[in-house]
Amino acid sequence: MTLQIPFENTYVSLPNRLFSHQKPTPVRAPKLLAFNEPLADELGICGTQDPDELAQVFSGSSLPDGAQPIAQLYAGHQFGNWNPQLGDGRAVLIGESNGYDVQLKGSGPTPYARRGDGRAWLGPVLREYIVSEAMHALGIPTTRALAAVETGEEIMRDRPLPGAVLTRVASSHIRVGTFQILAARQDVEGLQALLDYSIARHYPSASTPAAFLREVVAKQAELIAQWMSVGFIHGVMNTDNCAISGETIDYGPCAFMDAFHPGQVFSSIDRHGRYAYGNQPQIIAWNMAQLATSLLPLEDNSDAAVEEFTDIINDMPGMLRGMWQDRFAAKLGISETKDNDEGLITHLLSIMTDQKADFTNSFRYLTDGSVTETGLEAHKDYSAWHAQWTDRKREQPTDPVEVMAKSNPYLIPRNHQIEAMITQAVAGDLNLFHRLNAALSSPFEASPEAADLTVPPTTEEKVTQTFCGT
Ligand code: AMP
Ligand code: MG
Repeated sequence: MTLQIPFENTYVSLPNRLFSHQKPTPVRAPKLLAFNEPLADELGICGTQDPDELAQVFSGSSLPDGAQPIAQLYAGHQFGNWNPQLGDGRAVLIGESNGYDVQLKGSGPTPYARRGDGRAWLGPVLREYIVSEAMHALGIPTTRALAAVETGEEIMRDRPLPGAVLTRVASSHIRVGTFQILAARQDVEGLQALLDYSIARHYPSASTPAAFLREVVAKQAELIAQWMSVGFIHGVMNTDNCAISGETIDYGPCAFMDAFHPGQVFSSIDRHGRYAYGNQPQIIAWNMAQLATSLLPLEDNSDAAVEEFTDIINDMPGMLRGMWQDRFAAKLGISETKDNDEGLITHLLSIMTDQKADFTNSFRYLTDGSVTETGLEAHKDYSAWHAQWTDRKREQPTDPVEVMAKSNPYLIPRNHQIEAMITQAVAGDLNLFHRLNAALSSPFEASPEAADLTVPPTTEEKVTQTFCGT
């Protein structure tokens, strides 16, 4: 039986200036590398297990019934600079299934490709597959990975590399930049249609632009607090990479920190550290201010709206700080926070910074000692901090170890393991890919078989820079 995807496509009903009809470009010799069956079930996909047929469909070489492929238009601020027109340059949304977007990334050029080839190479495709699925398993809102297919074509980067297509699943691909492009073009009608659509799809209880803004802000604040709590650095928090659904989107040069440092940057293109680990809360507020600005034309740019939107944005840092404190307090076994918990948390983080302690392993060490050798004890302040922490835990209603075990993963996708996985995959060996994918699906379970995956990189293995997935 052929593959069936129960498409119900809604984005195509929006004004057609928001997208271009665009078919994916067929590839020479598609080969299925990975297929996420549980996710396919969630989407209602059924009808085939044949890897060749899956490879045909998820490389874009053949379109399933009901698909209405489009490339979406958007704009965005990239590293703070306004880019008046971006859009899916190498991706097409083939349709929506059970309310989720099914998008092929690396499926050939679109009208928004500019000088790009519309393709992706194997490395970033497998990286996004692993990292987005790991994020999901960590309980953090994110786009998902449905399939990875090798194209059988070489593409040119700094050298010829194997091409691949990732099938990405998202609650939607509406970005801050999707609102921005309409606002910039003074297309109030389009803006209203996009707002109505976004509200219906994501925030049905919001009835005004302000209420919508408030909900997006709350979702994004929670998302950033979650990123911070697992040491995640997005790397390119441009407004076009900021989804109004509150899901993590666009895994380019992202990375999880090994040794803790608030100023940590990995992305090779982030020369001034704009998107450093510790800057993420400020940047998200900046991005939300851009969303607010884009919504103002819907209220005739009135003074009252400016004031209301400004208040929402001004309240965001405080809201995020509270969420951040709750997340980090839970990492220390504190389920009912008090104001001075922030001091306890920041003191530990400063000890970790001094010791260049591994972020994930330090918290796991404090949880149950399932990972050791963090270097924390060697710090002059550690025993005083530990005594204070022990006192604070005594006041807790819930067993601190239980709270900590749910907040402190044993496994995260570490850069050096991902790099090793990519090197092996390019040589045709997918064992490490499958092993990482399986292990990272239960990140909170300590298991002897995965012990090697908790080991931080050696000096030689350390990844100091990550590159955009182009
Ligand atoms: P990103 O850095 O992945 O968020 O991409 C920024 C913009 O560049 C988006 O509009 C992408 O669609 C576009 N882009 C990235 N890589 C390519 C490519 N290989 N071909 C065409 N467009 C691309
Ligand atoms: Mg992007």
